[in-house]
Amino acid sequence: MPLETAWMIEKLRQLLLIPSPTGFTSAATDWLMLELSELGVAPKLTRKGAVTWTLSGGDAAPRAIAAHVDTLGAMVKEVKYNGRLKLTPLGGYDPSTIEGEQCVIHTASGTEFTGTVLSTKQSTHVWGAEGRELKRTFETLEVRVDALLHGHALVNWHDTRALGIEVGDFVSMDTRTQILDNGYIKSRHLDNKAGVAAMLEVTRQVVRDGLELPGAIHFLVTNYEEVGHGAAHGIPADAVEVVAIDMAAVGDGQTSSELHCSICVKDSGGPYDHDLSQHLRGLAKAAGIELKVDTYPFYSSDATAAWSAGGDFRAALIGPGVDASHAFERTHTKAIEDTARLLLEYIRS
Ligand SMILES: [Zn+2]
Repeated sequence: MPLETAWMIEKLRQLLLIPSPTGFTSAATDWLMLELSELGVAPKLTRKGAVTWTLSGGDAAPRAIAAHVDTLGAMVKEVKYNGRLKLTPLGGYDPSTIEGEQCVIHTASGTEFTGTVLSTKQSTHVWGAEGRELKRTFETLEVRVDALLHGHALVNWHDTRALGIEVGDFVSMDTRTQILDNGYIKSRHLDNKAGVAAMLEVTRQVVRDGLELPGAIHFLVTNYEEVGHGAAHGIPADAVEVVAIDMAAVGDGQTSSELHCSICVKDSGGPYDHDLSQHLRGLAKAAGIELKVDTYPFYSSDATAAWSAGGDFRAALIGPGVDASHAFERTHTKAIEDTARLLLEYIRS
């Protein structure tokens, strides 16, 4: 049963185009509901805004798979004296990684404006060394809004507010997605839209090929993971195991790689379930999937959130390697394929 890689990567591309900062995910979840309906499953939206669906199976105990569709983003903290916007981050941004980025301001009325994230001392010709040496924080970054008011530039807070831009408006960053012929995928927010794409592909394959599953599999796409409480709700009470799908942390000293799926056996939340992790490692080995085993130093997942909320199940974490996570990320098609393949092996085991 070959994966339909081209389909999966096209779905990833479509999803990356939809802004979904934490707290502002309904466009992405609406898209998911539609895609799932087209696949012939019956998705549901929880009150919190997460998407769930279940693939039925035999008598074995039900299990759950969780991945998050929310991403980093920002909110307008202040409409500044100079007409520009101060931001407050949504999730764990290093502010220096969004300097120069194109963004969209989503106003309460639904009107959208584009802008650029700049330092408050950006022009080299104006600030010289002072601008270069300025430490980048959310205090020293601001958004320059690409709009005119009655043909004039925005010069003060009154002008900008007259456009309908206010404190609390969501701001999403341009993902600048590039899918290269050699398989590399460069984009913001591969964390965790790559994981959601793998989940969609697995669902598509089970439905299309009429695969029999030993027990029911619940799927949960959460919408508050980047702020820590995504799967604190939404895991059905009958699930005896939860496998979270989320990006693997690639970098110096890590075994994870952009070309592979990783299993994380420990992160900031402590160790994952040893027996379930061993089971996944065994499945990967039998299927010829080169699964990397890793620990992530500054990381938590939907599985941890579900455990912290009191969940009584075994939990594990797998996902594709993503370089430069929470900055300008890169992964490879093969890592997402391996994640989908391992997920399929798991739900059929
Ligand atoms: Zn993530």
